[in-house]
Amino acid sequence: MASILIVEDERKTAEIVELYLRRDGHEVRIEVDGSVAWRTFSESPAGGVFDLVILDWMLPGLDGPTLCRRMRSAQADLKILMLTARAAEDDRIQGLDLGADDYVCKPFSPRELAARVRALLRRSAGRSDPPAEVLRWQCLSFDLAARRVTVGGRELALTRTEGELLACLLANPGRVFSRSELIANTLGDGYEGLDRTIDAHIGNLRRKLTAEDPRLRPVETVFGIGYRLADEPDEPDGPNEAVSSERASSSDA
Ligand code: CA
Repeated sequence: MASILIVEDERKTAEIVELYLRRDGHEVRIEVDGSVAWRTFSESPAGGVFDLVILDWMLPGLDGPTLCRRMRSAQADLKILMLTARAAEDDRIQGLDLGADDYVCKPFSPRELAARVRALLRRSAGRSDPPAEVLRWQCLSFDLAARRVTVGGRELALTRTEGELLACLLANPGRVFSRSELIANTLGDGYEGLDRTIDAHIGNLRRKLTAEDPRLRPVETVFGIGYRLADEPDEPDGPNEAVSSERASSSDA
């Protein structure tokens, strides 16, 4: 069980999310105003009361990105999940590093949001696990020591950058990487080219993977942010109750 703060000015959306999180056994508090949310958060005892915060992007009072930066610097082990409105924010958040652990685009399914929360909490619980030597995603496997990638046992030739990108994503399931983080992890901090360069490498990597197996799509685009490892497809999808899009909300204008 975790203690979760939802900061979302659309109360109905917040309450649906709350319902799903309570069903998973979590303790939930809702704030509908950014400034009040900051007060609630910063007045909690040292070490923090909350394990995870779900932050809407546009809020009255302090906005989501500001809260994200403040909360991150106040509590390093806090898990932060940002809600973004894909169309409205796409350009603005391009390349920003807010320090959020994950991003979910509105409109979203509360079921998917609850699954992302579970994934984030699992990640913090398993932090002390020794790093795996062979990373897997469906029929894809990446032997880190040998730097050898295979698809269903067949070896796949990747460039060094493509291999580094793939290893970075495979080693951090669920985590969203911005383009600049991926560049730092693959091309090195000294790289001074465009963030968009990473898109070309991702494109090549995707083509090589789907050429081996059309269903092999481990690299998921997170609009306006970057990339993450896709969830491995398992159970067929249940009903998808989509929550209202930010664009439909007039209170954010
Ligand atoms: Ca909002």
